[in-house]
Amino acid sequence: MASAVAYFSAMSTSPISPLRDFVVAFGHLLDSQPDEPRILQEGAALLRALVANDTWLPEDYAQPHPTHYQQYLLHADSTERFSVVSFVWGPGQATPVHDHTVWGLIGMLRGAEIAQPWRLHEDGRTTLVGEGVRLEPGQVEAVSPRIGDVHKVHNLHDDKVSISIHVYGANIGAVQRHTYPTEGGRKTFISGYSNSTLPNLWDRSNELNKP
Ligand code: FE
Repeated sequence: MASAVAYFSAMSTSPISPLRDFVVAFGHLLDSQPDEPRILQEGAALLRALVANDTWLPEDYAQPHPTHYQQYLLHADSTERFSVVSFVWGPGQATPVHDHTVWGLIGMLRGAEIAQPWRLHEDGRTTLVGEGVRLEPGQVEAVSPRIGDVHKVHNLHDDKVSISIHVYGANIGAVQRHTYPTEGGRKTFISGYSNSTLPNLWDRSNELNKP
């Protein structure tokens, strides 16, 4: 018993404890079965507090890739109500135009990024909507099918790494969603996670295709 107390007291002072506190608080928020507006509002406040200090993200989850952005899973809720991901941009890297199909919160931790919203029309076309939103450290943005789910994001910086922390209303690495190529139409993708050694666990495309 004493050793368990010692373990938890050591954990509470570890560098990772802001993330642990965030995950616990987010779980409590979802326990109260809030509607999406409340998740986005109260969840954004929790995420804003998490990204207010750039002190806790382990180095292994902050490593860029030379050619494409990285998505490191930080936490997946055991019942897939939410997941937390560090999104690491190498210099000048960008996403394609894509959707999420679930709510998402994006909190800027380090550097800066531009999120350009796109509108998805009934005939499947996508067009630019307004100005891109510039996210600076400590700021939080939201996406969802209800408020606007399609965007393209890029690292504002051509000479350094940027990192944002994303929270989604699902185990996002396993969600079947879409990119929207410039030539029109849409392509299905499942992102997985850059740090997953169990790709088949995340890929449910076979399961989904079963009659
Ligand atoms: Fe996105």
